Amino acid sequence: MISIVVPAHNEERNLELLHARVSAQMQVLIGGPECADWEVVIVDDGSTDRTWERVMTLASEDGRVRGVRLSRNFGHQNALLAGLAAARGDAVISMDADLQHPPEVLPSLIQKWREGYQIVHAIRRDAGSLALSKTLTSRLYYRLFSYLSGVRIEPGAADFRLLDRQVLDEILKFKEEGVFLRGIVHWVGYATAAVSFECGERHAGASSYDMRKMLTLAWHGISSFSLVPLRIAVVIGLAASTLSFLGVSYAILGWWLDRAVVPGWASSLAIMSGFFGLLFVVLAILAEYVGRIVIEVRGRPRFLVRETAGATLRPRNRAHLKPASSPDARTGT
Ligand code: UDP
Ligand code: MG
Repeated sequence: MISIVVPAHNEERNLELLHARVSAQMQVLIGGPECADWEVVIVDDGSTDRTWERVMTLASEDGRVRGVRLSRNFGHQNALLAGLAAARGDAVISMDADLQHPPEVLPSLIQKWREGYQIVHAIRRDAGSLALSKTLTSRLYYRLFSYLSGVRIEPGAADFRLLDRQVLDEILKFKEEGVFLRGIVHWVGYATAAVSFECGERHAGASSYDMRKMLTLAWHGISSFSLVPLRIAVVIGLAASTLSFLGVSYAILGWWLDRAVVPGWASSLAIMSGFFGLLFVVLAILAEYVGRIVIEVRGRPRFLVRETAGATLRPRNRAHLKPASSPDARTGT
């Protein structure tokens, strides 16, 4: 069985077309419409429009559609995880709901999987349809990420990929908060292949990835994969201490040799504020990591499920849907 996992936040106007186009591809691939060898798991990530109603309608019309409704907006990565946890397929494909990831790429992903690859990335060819700012920032970021973490991410990789059941089961064991799937799928290894696709325009609605969400994802990625920023902080600290040590030595030496070293207000203030500035930079980097530790230690569930729609067959990874009802999650302890 092949599962297609779609996180959806305010995508009411895209789901029907997405379903139609996915069905068209899967039917050619797998057999007639009676064949139940695939499913679509749509995760409603706290939408404020009629996304959930659309999901329920689709699920009542087509037994292969299942819905998971999260209790609020948990963000794209967590919604994706919720869908991956609910998927039952031997291969699980994740894609966006806005049709920027064309369903017509599905056959080539599945073809690679049948050839024996356990992870198949769909890599975006950065052509005209995407804003230049987005392609540039994403390239720059992936380069920085690869440099800092030693994990190479192909530029143009988004969360459009196929995972084999074995890989998925391993990834679902990762309990880290602020999970950065784009890095983890490279970190885990396994036989990997890639196919490329032309990124389409968003079909309807607006992108919900604003600057803040993008920066959060970027920082989660780097801080969960790399300690290099901490090391940079150490280097800054050492360099600053060396400089101030030299400055103080010079002053003492001048006083001792009775030379007139009279530092004016301006220069001493400049030095003071400069070093304080550096100090706070270093502290801020430390604080970010300490904050991440606090979040990890709390170990809260990464998403909570409000309700589900469609076939009530048991998902393979029930454990990952459980936190919603476990006593620990309710008391928050
Ligand atoms: N998405 C989500 N939760 C969010 C934001 C986005 O599930 O909080 C989904 C969204 O419905 C879409 C995918 O993540 O299926 C990618 O989002 P979007 O198209 O807004 O991002 P962009 O393509 O602009 O990077
Ligand atoms: Mg999009």
